[in-house]
Amino acid sequence: MSRVFLRRKIAPRIQNGHPWIFMNEVDRIEGSPEPAAIVEVFTHDSKWVGSGYYNPKSQIVVRILSRQKGEVIDAHFFKERIKRCWQYRQQTGYTENCRLVFGEADELPQLIIDKFNDYFVIQTLALGIDRWKPEIVDALQELFSPKGIYERNDVPVRELEGLPQQKGFLSAPFETKIIITENGLKFYVDLANGQKTGYFLDQQDNRKAIRSIVKNATVLGAFTYTGTFEVHAAQYGATSVLGLDISASAVEQANENARLNGLQDRCVFEVANAFDLLKQWTKEGKQYDVVMLDPPAFTKSRATIQKAITGYKEINLRGMKLVKPGGFLVTSSCTNLVPPPLFLEIIAMAAKDARRKIRQVYFNTQSADHPIVWEMENTQYLKFLIVQVL
Ligand code: SAH
Repeated sequence: MSRVFLRRKIAPRIQNGHPWIFMNEVDRIEGSPEPAAIVEVFTHDSKWVGSGYYNPKSQIVVRILSRQKGEVIDAHFFKERIKRCWQYRQQTGYTENCRLVFGEADELPQLIIDKFNDYFVIQTLALGIDRWKPEIVDALQELFSPKGIYERNDVPVRELEGLPQQKGFLSAPFETKIIITENGLKFYVDLANGQKTGYFLDQQDNRKAIRSIVKNATVLGAFTYTGTFEVHAAQYGATSVLGLDISASAVEQANENARLNGLQDRCVFEVANAFDLLKQWTKEGKQYDVVMLDPPAFTKSRATIQKAITGYKEINLRGMKLVKPGGFLVTSSCTNLVPPPLFLEIIAMAAKDARRKIRQVYFNTQSADHPIVWEMENTQYLKFLIVQVL
């Protein structure tokens, strides 16, 4: 096995549990590892740190897989790791639908596996994990005997690893538009064509958190995707719910989801650019008891973080203006580039500009099937906030 030696200053971060080694953190490499090979990692003074996969094409040249000396990385290794992931989900109560594997946080860097009852969706986002796809699929077959496995590797980050974007079946073909149950409600999930892996499992606890505030309320939701929050609001007793999304296919599926639960009389979805429409409705003086926002990340890189800040502030400002005095704003941010304190600061700035006082009702992160590892700041990415707008 080839050996990768870290620069002196880098070792503590890696030894403390961070799995990423950047090109400029490597002092020297002994041997000539092939791309995707397993390499051993050492401190500058030859102390063993772990083994991981190697890709000279990537800026992150090694990602650590094992910190147990002598552990062999093979089919058995992946099956045991996935078993451990499943055990954690069982312990924490996320079994029917869950993120079974959350990459780095589960010590399986760049591997995402979402479980939707008997169906599984996989993403292998780095070369060194992609090459183990057959072993990973075998492990899922052996552990779960699933009805279907689908690959959603149609994501641009793969190109940074020299990998093509692709999607398709990793099991016998099956109907990819399935139905899942969450909090007693039914939702269509389009595993092949939906956003990301088809459904945002990370908000499953937060969808329950709106239960009391939406009762007998008029509700406006923006960035609704397939309408999960809005269908929950209707079920929890909202008198009327309107959901907006810019994607026509998302809106179509959201309306189907309302019908699937018999809530179509109180819960409807329309195609709209939320930025434009919320601004227009503020001018027209429209008011709602509850406004819910769940916008996309706005940026993917630290260099353009200001863009995200501006976007979040602007949309929250517009959202807040539409809330009746004493009503509620439900707002999320899904990028790890905006840490929780900054997100709260952005909401405070929006309130100031909207000339409204706010009171925090509830503040949360992603559900525990997406565990947060403190040594890896980007494992905490979701912020979910409910405020009363006075
Ligand atoms: N709340 C959803 C997830 C929302 S994802 C859930 O729990 O499932 C963000 C959504 O914002 C996407 O569906 C995307 O189509 C939509 N979107 C992006 N820009 C938009 C805009 N300017 N106006 C309205 N929707 C937008």
